Amino acid sequence: MKKDYQETWNLDVFFPGGSSSLDFQKHLEATEDAIQEFSKQVHKYKLENNTNDQVLLTKIVDLFEIVVKKVRQAGAFVSCLEAQNMEDKEASALRGKVTEISAKFQNVLTVFDGKLSSYDDVTWNGLFEGSNIEELYFILSERRTHARQKLSENEETLINKLSVDGYHGFGQMYDTIVGSIQIPFIENEEKKYLSVGQAANKFSDPDRTVRKAIFSEWEKAWNEKGDLLAKTLNHLAGFRLNVYEMRGWKNFLKEPLEMNRMQEKTLQTMWKVIADNKKPFVKFLERKAQLLGLEKLSWYDLDAPVGSLDTKMSYQEGANFIVKHFSQFGSNLGEFAEKAFEDSWIEAEDRKGKRPGGFHTYFPESKQSRIFMTYSGTPSNVSTLAHELGHGFHTYAMGDMHTLNRNYAMNVAETASTFAEMIVSDAALKEVKKEEEKISLLEDKIQRSIALLMNIHARFLFETSFYNLRKNGLVSKEKLNELMLDAQKEAYGNALEEYHPSFWGSKLHFYITNVPFYNFPYTFGYLFSLGIYARALAEGPGYEEKYIAMLKDTASMTVEDLASKHLQVDLTQEDFWESAIKLCIADVEEFLDLTN
Ligand SMILES: [Zn+2]
Repeated sequence: MKKDYQETWNLDVFFPGGSSSLDFQKHLEATEDAIQEFSKQVHKYKLENNTNDQVLLTKIVDLFEIVVKKVRQAGAFVSCLEAQNMEDKEASALRGKVTEISAKFQNVLTVFDGKLSSYDDVTWNGLFEGSNIEELYFILSERRTHARQKLSENEETLINKLSVDGYHGFGQMYDTIVGSIQIPFIENEEKKYLSVGQAANKFSDPDRTVRKAIFSEWEKAWNEKGDLLAKTLNHLAGFRLNVYEMRGWKNFLKEPLEMNRMQEKTLQTMWKVIADNKKPFVKFLERKAQLLGLEKLSWYDLDAPVGSLDTKMSYQEGANFIVKHFSQFGSNLGEFAEKAFEDSWIEAEDRKGKRPGGFHTYFPESKQSRIFMTYSGTPSNVSTLAHELGHGFHTYAMGDMHTLNRNYAMNVAETASTFAEMIVSDAALKEVKKEEEKISLLEDKIQRSIALLMNIHARFLFETSFYNLRKNGLVSKEKLNELMLDAQKEAYGNALEEYHPSFWGSKLHFYITNVPFYNFPYTFGYLFSLGIYARALAEGPGYEEKYIAMLKDTASMTVEDLASKHLQVDLTQEDFWESAIKLCIADVEEFLDLTN
């Protein structure tokens, strides 16, 4: 029998003493010094047009790497402190400090990028040929290209300054509006007011009258604030479109596509395959309606539980289960997870004062991961644990890559985590004894496909039609409702009775200023990972080596190149996406069989 694993993490190996750590103070000072040195060298840096140029750029890049590691090390530590104890005021103060340091670093990077953008192509390529930073050609060229496509340094600085009270200001306005929303709800004959988050939890209540009651108040509340929300959304999009226009960018998908290093053709192909394969998911929704004794599902039934699941696993059992099944896929993955459990890389204890949810973070100077979650023994806890370990394995696989080649985009960020979850959920499905539990596990798994292939699809359809209209002027609340209703009907294949037209107001993702089109990368990541999983199943044991080689390259090439190099597929063609969606459909078919 395996030994007992600690349920709390060890942060003292990085900086002893938590949020009052003196070593961490020293680290912050060293980080500021490093930024200052980097800034000095960047400002001084210019071409000499001789063989020394490669040496100069290498020197700058070395400093760049040192600063990145220090800033991330600091950010990771503060994230852990804040999450383990939300009351830790010193940790919040440290967060402020780290944010300030990061902003300084960003300012220096803007100057650095400006210098890169001034070189002509011949000079630029010459800087890399035969140099020892050849491996950074993609990533530095990307910075150079982005800088070249923007306005002058002065104009971009002006935009950034105005964004604080304009663009980002409207983003914050959204939080203020949402914070003021209270949803009335009657429980035990007593009228209560719920926050948006509390009300959202009621959508998975097994009692339909509860779900329906909360939904009707929910729609009402968002509609009441509809004019404020519509103004906010219109100004965010308007700001973005004006900046794009000034830069001469015609396509509003340009920025989000470039952030995800992907072509528009790839995106279109992915959505086409999804649109062509709605039928099985519509059937699933119909069956779920039957199981709930309904003619047709409504929006507020989508999260209703089906079947029952009361199996619990202790932390040790969960850990052993994960290690066992990870090891069956490959020894590296299994050993990585075992090391994470053994060396106290995971904070899983179920106690008060912790932040909800889970995350993974990486300490680059120490080459160690930390995982945060609250483990209470449910199957979904085991999935979360596997998910976050998957993220950890991604950073582990990139171990010997240059720091600047480790910054993967959002659309591939979930590759390893989804993959790890698939291993564990498939194993759980195989081991479960009672049919009712199997149905419940399957339903839970299919819900993810519904979310990513239907819900996120609706968000993308809505945002696309909204941006097209917004180019010609403000879009009213009523029109936004209409656009959302159309998008939902299309994305859900008309499978629902009632929809959620004010969803454009209730979903935070439409108001996140740093990431435009905060939707399709999720769906891409899910199917991309499933496509790789399908490949792993087909190739059997020994696939791990190829898997690791693929993960290594996730942050230093486009997704099309990544897929072509490691999977020998063309992402602009349908076959890869078909192979991925087949796995989701297989789950649905099994579910339909079991519930026939
Ligand atoms: Zn994740």
